[in-house]
Amino acid sequence: MSVLPVSSSSTVPNPSAGRLQAVRERLDAACAAAQRPIESIALLAVSKTFSAQAVADMVSAGQTAFGENYIQEGVDKIADLAALRASAGLVWHCIGPIQSNKTRLVAEHFDWVQSVDRLKIAERLSAQRPTNLPPLQVCVQVNVDGGATKSGVQVSEATALAQAIHQLPGLQLRGLMCIPDPVDTFAAQVAIFGRARTLFDAWRAQGLPVDTLSMGMSSDLEAAVASGATMVRVGTALFGAR
Ligand SMILES: *Cc1c(COP(=O)(O)O)cnc(C)c1O
Repeated sequence: MSVLPVSSSSTVPNPSAGRLQAVRERLDAACAAAQRPIESIALLAVSKTFSAQAVADMVSAGQTAFGENYIQEGVDKIADLAALRASAGLVWHCIGPIQSNKTRLVAEHFDWVQSVDRLKIAERLSAQRPTNLPPLQVCVQVNVDGGATKSGVQVSEATALAQAIHQLPGLQLRGLMCIPDPVDTFAAQVAIFGRARTLFDAWRAQGLPVDTLSMGMSSDLEAAVASGATMVRVGTALFGAR
């Protein structure tokens, strides 16, 4: 049995590559089962709590889209990786709760924000988006499984919010994001994701120019793909336990 040199990092395989490959294989299998082309699913790597170095390793493995929940942590990582953002074409998504006093940081540093659930936040993001940057790409976070205290706009109010965001000049409405609570079975996961899919289809039917249905995480991405997700957000399966 050979012993790998421990000092020469360039010869040690990047473990991020193996985890990324494993997630891609899950997505391939889920797409095959759903008879969908693999190109119809985008993978967002959720790097919250992991270091800029962990992100850089994942970039080396071929991943370019990253999601952050905590705004200051995300802004710090974006700054640390500014050169890589430019050279590798990194795209940064804000996927966490946004207080009013943090909208300027989001508007100035991120490419996307998937966690907009109030018009006031949308208006601030639009007004604060620097005019030398493209519009901020926005998903409306919808509370598809009830729970009055959960983040996300209620289903009954979601379409009005999407229509209002579509009118804001600093924002480009892209779609819908949801984070349902974990449920036990594949059938139950599909039933809840189906509510998001129904709403997304209704927006398209009424002419809202949306192309992104962001749902599915490490534990339920297969059900999300089966339910029509166009983007899955995966943390643990790519970076390890938090
Ligand atoms: C943490 C997080 C994820 C990733 O969750 P995992 O279970 O680690 O894959 C996805 N989306 C949001 C909004 C998150 O906060």
